[in-house]
Order: sequence, then C-alpha cells, then structure tokens
Amino acid sequence: MIKTDIAIVGGGITGLWLHSLLKSRGYQCLLFEKYKLGSGQTLASQGMIHGGLKYNLDGIAGTASKTISSMPAVWRACLSGDSEMDLSNVGCIAWQYHLFSDGRLGNKLSAFLGSHALSVGTRMLSAAELPPPFSSDQFKGVVYEIPDLILDTQSLIESLAAKDPNNLIEAKVKPVPHDGAGINCLILEDGTKVEAQYFVYAAGIGNEELIAKSNLKMATQRRGLHQVLLKGDLPVLNGHAVSLQSKDKPRFTVTSYKERSNTTWYLGGELAETGIKRESRAQIEFAKHELKQFLPSINIDSCEFTTLEIERAEPKERSRLRPDRPTCYCEGNVIACWPIKLTLVPLLMEEVLEKIMSNPSGIASSDTTKLRKAQVGNYPWNGSL
Ligand SMILES: Cc1cc2nc3c(=O)[nH]c(=O)nc-3n(C[C@H](O)[C@H](O)[C@H](O)COP(=O)(O)OP(=O)(O)OC[C@H]3O[C@@H](n4cnc5c(N)ncnc54)[C@H](O)[C@@H]3O)c2cc1C
Repeated sequence: MIKTDIAIVGGGITGLWLHSLLKSRGYQCLLFEKYKLGSGQTLASQGMIHGGLKYNLDGIAGTASKTISSMPAVWRACLSGDSEMDLSNVGCIAWQYHLFSDGRLGNKLSAFLGSHALSVGTRMLSAAELPPPFSSDQFKGVVYEIPDLILDTQSLIESLAAKDPNNLIEAKVKPVPHDGAGINCLILEDGTKVEAQYFVYAAGIGNEELIAKSNLKMATQRRGLHQVLLKGDLPVLNGHAVSLQSKDKPRFTVTSYKERSNTTWYLGGELAETGIKRESRAQIEFAKHELKQFLPSINIDSCEFTTLEIERAEPKERSRLRPDRPTCYCEGNVIACWPIKLTLVPLLMEEVLEKIMSNPSGIASSDTTKLRKAQVGNYPWNGSL
C-alpha cells in the first residue's frame, strides 16, 4: 500500500506541471505514467504557444481567442525564469513565426491583422524583409510576422521531469470505485494500492477509461488529426498558411526540426483535421498539393514523407466542436482535467490548484524506492523518417 497527498495519473504536460506546482506548495505527490513521459499528445503536438490569432481568420475575435490571448505573455515569463514555474532551461524552436498566404488576403482579414499590429506586434513584412522560401519570385502571397512561440516540447518534458524525478513512477493504474462520489484507491498492475486525498486524472485519451471505471458522470470526446511529415533539404519554416477561404483555422500549420543537413517539416492545421478521412498515401498527395500551391519554389520531390494519426482528448461538446476553455471536473476525491491546448495549461493549473488547496497536505509519504521510475519519451517521428 502507498499513501500520498495527491496521486496524478498521466505524465504529459498537465500531470508534470501540476506535480511540480504541488511539490513546491509542500504536498506529497506521486505521478503515474503508463509508458514514457510526454508520449501522449504532448510530444506529438506542434508546440505552438499562440495568442489565438489563428482562430480569427474570418476576422472575428470569438470566445476561444479571447481566452487564449494573454497566454504567450504568461509563457514568456516562465521561459525567462520570472514565474513560479521556472522554464528557463526549456528550448524554443522559434520566438516568432509567420502567417503567409497563397495570394492577397481579403479586406476583413487584412484589417484584422492591421489591428493586431497595433495591439500585439503582428507586422506585415516588406518585400525586402522576406526570408526564404518567401523571397522567391514564385511566391505570390503576403507574409506577417507573429510574436508567438514554438516550444521544443521534448526539452519542456525533460525540464518538468527533472524537477522531481523520484516521484514519477512508470505504471499503468486502474481506479477502484466506491458507492459514493469518487474512488477508493488506484491499483497498480502488480496489485499495489495507492491511497490519496485527491486523484487527478491528467491522462489525455486515458481519461476516458479512467472516468468510465470510476463511474464518474463526465462525458468525453476525441477529435482526430492526420499530421504529415516530410524530411529533406528544406529551409526552416514555422507558421500558418492561410487563404481567402480560411475561417477559424489555417489551411496548414508548419513547424520545423533541424538535424544536421536535413530539416523535418511537421504539418497540421486544417490539412490534418480533414485528413482523418484520407488514408496515408492520399494524405501525402494532398499535402504535396497544398505545399505546391503556397510555396511553389520549394522542391519537395526528393523529400521522404510519412503521416501520423493521433487523437485529441477533450470533454464532450455539442456537435463535437472544439471546446473554448480548459476543463477541470471534480467529483468526490477525483479531479479530471483537460488543457485543450498546451498553451492553456497555466490557466488550467489555476483551476486545479484552487480545488486542491482547500485541503492541506497531511498524509505521510510512503517508500516508493522499489517502483520503476518513468523516463522521458521522444518525438513520435524520431526513427520513422
Ligand atoms: C498533433 C497535435 C498537435 C497539437 N499542437 C498543439 C499546438 O501547437 N499548440 C497547443 O497549444 N496545443 C497543441 N495540441 C494540444 C496539446 O498537445 C494537448 O492539449 C496537450 O499536450 C495535452 O496534454 P496532457 O498532458 O493533458 O495529455 P497527454 O500529453 O496526452 O498525456 C497523457 C499521458 O497519460 C498517460 N496515461 C494514459 N492513461 C494512463 C493510465 N491509465 N495510467 C497511467 N498513465 C496513463 C499517457 O501515456 C500520456 O503520457 C496538439 C495536439 C496534437 C495531438
């Protein structure tokens, strides 16, 4: 039997961030990860910490963009070490990135981006400032610089894991429900029972099974993505490709990972959302067509391509829409949470801490030296390209 103040299930960004905050507030806290730390959605994500501009491509600032607009500043404080969550050793793939079009943008979006220039520093690049691949004569669009960040999510997971590695346990856990609200305990595969004041489910897609086995009343949904990867002699390119038809998402989103002479482009956005209906080969052909339309000067013929299918886990929304806010659902001694986006994790933490902090730390810590410690995972495409 193990006793702890708080037992967290899931070692993605949510679980690891919460674990670190609770430790610094004096709680005895154990985290259980069934595979490798970050190996769910976190390491598969594009790491974009954004202020919601991509949700306004129809020129209208909706609820999602209002919730998210303050987040890049919160993250910048963490990355510069000026926040309770010190992420000063986390790498960034980019400190700003581009929004680029295939042709001229509509008046509505241009006016909207113009207003952003005043408030948050988005700016349109002049012809003389255009970097490759936009500097080619074949590129016919406009390019804006957006002051948002792209995180190296592997170094993010490494940094969070290093804060208290001895209390990160590799184990798949199952809940043991009781008749009232909440659960009795968690149980590890070897039969060890884990008792706690609070059990926090931060298991991404795994929350679905945990919730069902705990008899909680929360409904969840999954939304799929079919991402595309290409590797070759490519320039570094990070940003959103938008066209006149773009509504609340870019035609595609690209992030770049450089290694020696090759660069890998990771493509998401609308391409990945609609791509769930296409099998891998058709999805690659679709991506090639999109790339040629936006970036005709780039030779992708000798690149290696592959695709990655992955699902995002969320609370259930009407018509499977994208939820606007992070969610923290409490029933008895169980708290289930979903950040919805990496970007929104700091906001989610405020809600989870508010629930937990009403109960002071109190349970003596147990000896966990015999349990296997969880290791940090890799980018899911490492080795596949
Ligand atoms: C392709 C893709 C691109 C994205 N891009 C962005 C982006 O650019 N910007 C942005 O802000 N957001 C992005 N997101 C969203 C973001 O990645 C997620 O919101 C965030 O990573 C969720 O983190 P999490 O820790 O809650 O879940 P996860 O990262 O999924 O972690 C859950 C962990 O729980 C573990 N687990 C599951 N069940 C159990 C169990 N029973 N016992 C023990 N462990 C268990 C899993 O192994 C996993 O490691 C993207 C998501 C995807 C899929």
